[in-house]
Amino acid sequence: MAWQRKTPFGYLIQDGLLQPHPQEADTVRYIFGQYLAGASLLAIAESMTQQGIRYHQHTAEWNKNMVKRILENAKYTGAEGCPRLVSDEDFAAAQHQRTVRNTYAPLATEIRPIQSKAVCARCSGRMARGTRSHGRVHWKCQNEGCGQSVSLSDETLAGLVDRRLRELAQAPHLLTAPGSQRAEVDMEAIRLRNELTMALNRGADSPEYIKTLVLTAAAQRYSRLPDPTPAHDLEQLRVRLEQGPANADTLAALLTTAVRTVRLTPEKTVELELVNGEIITDTKEESA
Ligand SMILES: [Zn+2]
Repeated sequence: MAWQRKTPFGYLIQDGLLQPHPQEADTVRYIFGQYLAGASLLAIAESMTQQGIRYHQHTAEWNKNMVKRILENAKYTGAEGCPRLVSDEDFAAAQHQRTVRNTYAPLATEIRPIQSKAVCARCSGRMARGTRSHGRVHWKCQNEGCGQSVSLSDETLAGLVDRRLRELAQAPHLLTAPGSQRAEVDMEAIRLRNELTMALNRGADSPEYIKTLVLTAAAQRYSRLPDPTPAHDLEQLRVRLEQGPANADTLAALLTTAVRTVRLTPEKTVELELVNGEIITDTKEESA
């Protein structure tokens, strides 16, 4: 059923060689530029139709799929011997946007796992999501002494978290289990238990001292409640990431398993605090 162009959109054959098509090559760059500036596939398709540019000879109408195919075509980066029309950076940014916009289409459900982990970067207080009368989403620190408010749309926040998760996915070595601290806690618990046993056996210590020991030991046990993130879950994620690129499932698992808090900064950036204490923060300048 599919009508095939002899050459991919953006190219023509001249003297037996694939060359950039003067107008179509510009159109390809224009489409990438529009998409990266935030235009939807549909808006771009409508703009193409309006400008009277033809995707193929049978119709002057553009649809979303035509735009999508152009945005996903690696030939424009010079793959398969085609002349390059877009930079690797723009191409990668477009693929990233495609995933972000697809993954987070039903925003309410995608925000929920972030919402449960959102904290204030300034004071680590809980951040609560709210909407003002004009419908803009803002996050407000629930710590009365702080009250930091950060205005972030669901889509922007989801995109920022996605970006951090992808950076984390590129650095699987950070997914180490929080082992050493726990060993220390265990040693301290054993020491306290021994001290308490000895004090009880001696029978000579003041009730106050015994009480202090009992309470301290209880606090220790409380701090040793089962780790909600078993080390082997982190290990599994690390192995999965070392084997290949992260898909949407892996990124979701990273958020659920490896991330303790999503820290919202007053500068409207996002940091991820991992369960092992590592922080994933801006490594490079944010670009739209
Ligand atoms: Zn705060």
